[in-house]
Amino acid sequence: MITLGIIGGGQLGRMLAMAAARLNVRTVILEPQADCPAAQVANRQITAAYDDEAGLDALAAACDVVTYEFENVPVSAATRLARSLPVYPPPKALEVAQDRVTEKRFLNACGLETARFHPIDSAEELVTALADFGGKGVLKTRRFGYDGKGQHVFREDGKDAAAVYERLGAVPLILESFIGFDREISIIAARGTNGAFAAFDPAENVHRNGILHTSTVPATIDTAARQSANAAAKAILETLDYVGVIGVEFFVRPDGSLVVNEIAPRVHNSGHWTEAACVISQFEQHIRAVCDLPLGDTSRHSDAVMQNLIGDDIHDLPRWLQEPRTLVHLYGKDEARPGRKMGHVTTLGQALRRMSQDC
Ligand code: AMP
Repeated sequence: MITLGIIGGGQLGRMLAMAAARLNVRTVILEPQADCPAAQVANRQITAAYDDEAGLDALAAACDVVTYEFENVPVSAATRLARSLPVYPPPKALEVAQDRVTEKRFLNACGLETARFHPIDSAEELVTALADFGGKGVLKTRRFGYDGKGQHVFREDGKDAAAVYERLGAVPLILESFIGFDREISIIAARGTNGAFAAFDPAENVHRNGILHTSTVPATIDTAARQSANAAAKAILETLDYVGVIGVEFFVRPDGSLVVNEIAPRVHNSGHWTEAACVISQFEQHIRAVCDLPLGDTSRHSDAVMQNLIGDDIHDLPRWLQEPRTLVHLYGKDEARPGRKMGHVTTLGQALRRMSQDC
């Protein structure tokens, strides 16, 4: 039997561990928080910080292969583990995804379009960069940003640049040109140890307050956009010599062309619909890839809408439990704090798309 180490104990680790169990893959979670969502369903937890050397060595001793469920795993931890056992996706993918400037340079080197950007390390650099973008742009922290946190949108004249820099500028920043888009999509793709590639259908994503609200398949995009999303994911995976599942997010311009927003070297919230609308979910696909098993069939048997249950949304649970053709997935978290992802629901079928949009 294979034993898989998972760094990170959140809901993504939990769903990976559940998929692993079905394939007789044992799981060990490395996570400082006791009784975390992943450890509740895994074989074992090593309760230690992600960069704790004794914890990492215990993980290496217990496992045949290691993966991770979030992109801010310290690169030094992944590299330490990679000296004694395979770590998938490769630590290089973490390095690329952890810094928005490195990420954009990497994507551009893959021949993919991103927003134009300037690294920002002072208020003066911000003023100059805003002038280059006609006063519009999105200022983000280079590292550790998620769910729209650590961001500021300059809508027209770049005003208050100095004050905004004061608020965000204690850390390195990036100013991105503002992309006028019709919609946002993402694609979940996988690459196996033998170089095999497989992608799920792109999903159309709607955010609320910077957090993913719904993912809908099929996305309203044409065949050309579908093919470019697929080709972009393939180029990224091949360039990184990647093994595992990746999420790639795009803006879709009014003319249908794609701009890559960011990559997530892990299973992704916008791929949760796969557990209800495909025979093989993104979670099982990741387990297959990193455990050197053949990749699974990514075809979709139903249209679907996935909706996150965030904070107080969890109080709608009794209603969701009665919805037909709806899969409810909860994450084992007690306290419904604002902005906290408590679970998600996926409803199958076209008609139900309307229902989800009404919520
Ligand atoms: P991110 O944290 O990079 O995923 O950004 C959060 C959200 O902000 C995205 O889903 C978009 O809706 C919006 N956004 C981010 N970057 C840009 C950009 N360069 N142009 C326009 N909108 C953006």
